[in-house]
Amino acid sequence: MKHNLVLITALLWVTANVHGQKTIKEANSSSSNPENAQVYEPIPPVVVPGETFSSPPSDAIILFNGKNLDEWVSEKDQSPAKWTVANGAATVDKSSGDIETKRKFTSYQLHIEWKIPADITGSGQARGNSGVFLSGRYEIQVLDNYNNENKTYVNGMAGSIYRESIPLCNPEKKPGEWNVYDIAYTDPQFNDDGSLKTPARVTIFFNGVLVQNNVAIEGGTSTDTRHVYVKHGPAPLRLQAHGDKSAPISFRNIWIRE
Ligand code: MG
Repeated sequence: MKHNLVLITALLWVTANVHGQKTIKEANSSSSNPENAQVYEPIPPVVVPGETFSSPPSDAIILFNGKNLDEWVSEKDQSPAKWTVANGAATVDKSSGDIETKRKFTSYQLHIEWKIPADITGSGQARGNSGVFLSGRYEIQVLDNYNNENKTYVNGMAGSIYRESIPLCNPEKKPGEWNVYDIAYTDPQFNDDGSLKTPARVTIFFNGVLVQNNVAIEGGTSTDTRHVYVKHGPAPLRLQAHGDKSAPISFRNIWIRE
């Protein structure tokens, strides 16, 4: 409870202080990276997170409470989600692919916990890769980058807006322990002709530590092309079943406040 109050206070502070300030993204926009290429420095400093977890507040929509995936479907064919549910967690089933919520959302606060398996193998982007796709298309990366030991491009590490924004620091816990994302997301607005009116924005607390501060998202996540916006309305939340060969990651305690 105390943690929730601290988090809410922090979110309110961030919301109240963004006006009149340059955002991280805007501050960084002078360093040109027009093709969203892989970037290797500056390497975010390691921060050791505190020992707290977050229960859903009274107005939250519970998307996964550890018992079943009734709120989720397979992204590719909308059939019931087939990821493995056991011991209060949902674990990626790579053969069945990404899952997404049945519900569609616009702007929200999201709480989601994830764990890299203790026996994780692989390197770079092939080490515990998954992702949280806001509006089903803007990826917040999930990856094993504990203690900055798994080298990869820093705008593709855990806590990044994938291939866009480097996290301010790296508070990731070691494989086998649970990590928490608390995300404040504002969905993008579009003009009638489909052009972008205002970009999506995201603030992320990673294990209670601010890693993205009201950053403007550049467009839909893509690995090989410029991120662009394509007009959309309310959309599901999507979780990634990445095709790497490392052991699958798990999720638990997922809730959202519209
Ligand atoms: Mg990913």
